[in-house]
Amino acid sequence: MALIGIARLASESELLEAKSRVTYFEIAARRILNRTKPNMPFQWTINPYRGCEFGCKYCYARYTHEYMELDVQDFEDKIYAKPAAADRVRLELRRIDRKDHIAIGTATDPYQPAERRFGRTRSILEAFARERGRHLGITTKSDLIVRDLELLREIARANVLSINITITTLDEKLARLMEPRAPRPALRLKAVRQLAQAGLVVGVFPNPIMPLLTDSERALDRLARRARDAGAQYFGAGPLFLMPCAQKVLLPWLEDNFPALALDYRKLFEHSAYLGSGAKRILRARVEKIRDRYGLNSGPLEYRPELWLGEEQASFELRD
Ligand code: SF4
Repeated sequence: MALIGIARLASESELLEAKSRVTYFEIAARRILNRTKPNMPFQWTINPYRGCEFGCKYCYARYTHEYMELDVQDFEDKIYAKPAAADRVRLELRRIDRKDHIAIGTATDPYQPAERRFGRTRSILEAFARERGRHLGITTKSDLIVRDLELLREIARANVLSINITITTLDEKLARLMEPRAPRPALRLKAVRQLAQAGLVVGVFPNPIMPLLTDSERALDRLARRARDAGAQYFGAGPLFLMPCAQKVLLPWLEDNFPALALDYRKLFEHSAYLGSGAKRILRARVEKIRDRYGLNSGPLEYRPELWLGEEQASFELRD
């Protein structure tokens, strides 16, 4: 079968580097900024990579590899870097309204290990450092973000910048199982502290909140307290959104590690990728109470990944 669109681009991508487990490619992309659907908390997204080495078991962004006719497991083993020279990003920004909100890291982690080597996120930020009046949000699980502390401060001097550090659990063992190659929660909290001390606006996302694993009042309370103590200004919570690409990885993982929960998850997400409205209501009330307790806001961006899907595909066009 002849490959078309993004699948063809993936098959033609130039090899950048092959480690023992992970292979890096350079993928062609006409645009770095991708328009989102209407009614979203941001109008543009930037994902400097396609795929993510952190390999979180619940990751909904695996769909981006399915678009390339790749297996969901390849999402963490075949990483595609996009061309993202600062000049090019500046050219694209010229066509974008200053009022528009731009989110970096909605379908990949911009500070995954590839960033140390290829620096695509950094070159995008260099473009923003020369901008004025932009609205920018960055979401990551990685303490590598503090490498760019000075650059982030430069951006924040003339733009509205918020940084979301995702911490799903403080339990190191659970984090290692669930997010196998992401930095430890303690390192992420340390990054929150460093960013806050540098005067940057930073919050913690406990997302996705995992039913029966990370959603207890006690676990969320502890996480919110530690986030507040580290200097987080908001705690932007959202429940698990388990689309089929994520089910393929999460359900077998539950069978292996939490067999007693596997059946519960199958029932919870049997008919839909969304948690039922009753469960969502309970979770919302729980999180609101916790936020009030620690004086945390709900955050600059609402966590609604189900609305973010698909925007990536539109950013890739066939080469002539
Ligand atoms: S860090 Fe984010 S993008 Fe990367 S695997 Fe985890 S959930 Fe997916």
